[in-house]
Amino acid sequence: MALRRPLLMGNWKMNKTVAETRAFAEALARETSALDASADYAVCPPFTALSLAKVVFPTRVAVGAQNVHEAASGAFTGEIAAAMLKELGVTYVLIGHSERRQYFHETDAACGRKVAAVQAAGMIPVLCVGENEAERDAGETEAVVERQTEAGLAEAAEGSAIVIAYEPVWAIGTGKTPTPADAEAVIAHIRAVVERVKSVDFAASVRILYGGSVKPENIRSFTDQPNIDGALVGGASLQPESFVAMAVAMTGGEVE
Ligand code: PEP
Repeated sequence: MALRRPLLMGNWKMNKTVAETRAFAEALARETSALDASADYAVCPPFTALSLAKVVFPTRVAVGAQNVHEAASGAFTGEIAAAMLKELGVTYVLIGHSERRQYFHETDAACGRKVAAVQAAGMIPVLCVGENEAERDAGETEAVVERQTEAGLAEAAEGSAIVIAYEPVWAIGTGKTPTPADAEAVIAHIRAVVERVKSVDFAASVRILYGGSVKPENIRSFTDQPNIDGALVGGASLQPESFVAMAVAMTGGEVE
């Protein structure tokens, strides 16, 4: 089994100004000793705060973007290209977050093209997949994550890094979560899909995160599962204290 470094990633969504990003970074800087070197950490601020984040975040905390356009440049008012993110020092780019799929009508095929654009620019896509409540109730969870994973990987470059985040839509921002065993089962299924469409070795090395109402008190129950390599966190990543508490819990420390 390939060694997969745990990854804790915050998704700030449409929250925090530049000044608020600076305040978060200053608080985080006082706690960097709590960020164990055995794991990777990242935060995805809004586009407007990316360049500042790259300068003020502790070096152990990578910067991620929340979206990207699939084209290299052109007449796409309001959009951002992968090379623009790369220039700012961005490491990760979220692709196909359920809010993008739901409110901005991002298709599976578009997600696949975005994955390719991010990899071509030398960054790591974080492909988000997950079923909504109706799909879960209809017993379609496995089919949905399979379809989204296959489409997301369809144009992925051979051997280039990718992270997958399993985020059941009904668990995002609701305080509801699947049981750790249920999340593990879906993530094991996603890994089997990666194995089928890529290779055994690639599937063994790809990090698959759980996301949906993760907080300091429950992160460990998910990341203790053999196939769950970390967490993608919205609400609980907005406060430096809870970000650090999740980092401590994920890497085996006691949460105060
Ligand atoms: C998310 O938006 O990716 C997310 C998981 O949100 P929350 O942690 O708030 O449920």
